Amino acid sequence: MSTVAAPVSHLRENPFEIAQQQLHRVADTFKIDPNLISVLQQCKKAVVVSVPVVMDDGTVHAFEGYRVTHNIARGPSKGGIRYHPDVTLDEVKSLAMWMTWKCALMNIPFGGAKGGIACNPKQLSRTELQKMTRRYTSEIINEIGPEKDIPAPDVGTDGRVMAWIFDTYSMNKGHSVLGVVTGKPLNIGGSLGRLEATARGALYIIREAVRKQGATIAGQRVAVEGFGNVGMYLARFLAQEGATVLAVSDSSGGVYNSNGIDVETAIAHKQETGSLDGLKDAERITDEELLLLECDVLAPCALEQVITSDNADKVKAKIICEGANGPTTPTADEILEDRGVLVLPDVLANAGGVVVSYFEWVQGLQEYFWKEDEVNARLNDISTRAFNETWATRESRGTSMRMAAYGLAVNRVAEATTTRGLYP
Ligand code: GLU
Repeated sequence: MSTVAAPVSHLRENPFEIAQQQLHRVADTFKIDPNLISVLQQCKKAVVVSVPVVMDDGTVHAFEGYRVTHNIARGPSKGGIRYHPDVTLDEVKSLAMWMTWKCALMNIPFGGAKGGIACNPKQLSRTELQKMTRRYTSEIINEIGPEKDIPAPDVGTDGRVMAWIFDTYSMNKGHSVLGVVTGKPLNIGGSLGRLEATARGALYIIREAVRKQGATIAGQRVAVEGFGNVGMYLARFLAQEGATVLAVSDSSGGVYNSNGIDVETAIAHKQETGSLDGLKDAERITDEELLLLECDVLAPCALEQVITSDNADKVKAKIICEGANGPTTPTADEILEDRGVLVLPDVLANAGGVVVSYFEWVQGLQEYFWKEDEVNARLNDISTRAFNETWATRESRGTSMRMAAYGLAVNRVAEATTTRGLYP
């Protein structure tokens, strides 16, 4: 019998403890009522389900799935579903809490939620993926709904998965329920602009941040970690605006060219071969090397905890744009702050996805669909307003962008909770 080493999780610290730690720091800085913090530091509801699937080889595998609602004080809960081998209940809880702050900061009428299944979607066939998704949807069918909790894509899920969730839910209700999930394909009620929305939102936030330094995106030297839905489009948008994309990476590692990667060639290569490996006119680098490159903007757009106490003092970027959720640990945050690195926090920098999810939900409820220009213009309005509010709070409080963003968000949720009153 051979033993197989258990894969090492990317989560070196407990993510839910990190999220709670951040909340306590916000409460101290903004003097938020400790009674409210007692409520906000926990998740309202966490459901754990077993998702048995008959695999293609005839064996049955029971996956573990989660759906967590952190808070609904400002509206139905909203948040993606993650398919990844490292998914745990505590990770989903932290991501749900961050969704509450993200929706509040963007001032859209949602609370926060997240879901996930511990699985490796890259190793599942289309049939297995579909069966797993439909069974998971069926197991959480009483938790979700257009006025209750609205899932969306996250790491490892996409429009195809959202289509199966939409269909499973609708079949059980006996009619199509467009508002149950966002990130749907365009031909079944998705929104124009949703696919690129997270990256577009990050682009708008970077644009505002460099504007504060009297610069524009043209000429910025950037490194993008992660080449999925966020990183890939962000690299494209930045290159289109004249930035030099020095390096990009995916789970197979990174590619670097000091004169700039040709992003369109990289996208075509990734689509053809499934990875960035073997891209011509580029040098192979590790993910860690990418994070430490000499550049103006570093955009971690993959998973949590990539900038930690181990490497934060070696990061050379002037601006970090968190396209991923939770890429910087609190200890790393302090190191970066002391060193004067401007961190554009996840709840601000990657909120474009959920903002356009909000637009998709509204369009679905009204059965009236907007033009792409309209979607992008409204996203720009919301992103720019949130950036300016965060910047102003940072200036007036003399704190970091993260503290300012979380402070604004937590205050809004605390106020809604106070206005509604604690039931009973
Ligand atoms: N998963 C994305 C996020 O972390 C999108 C969530 C949504 O659209 O509901 O923000």
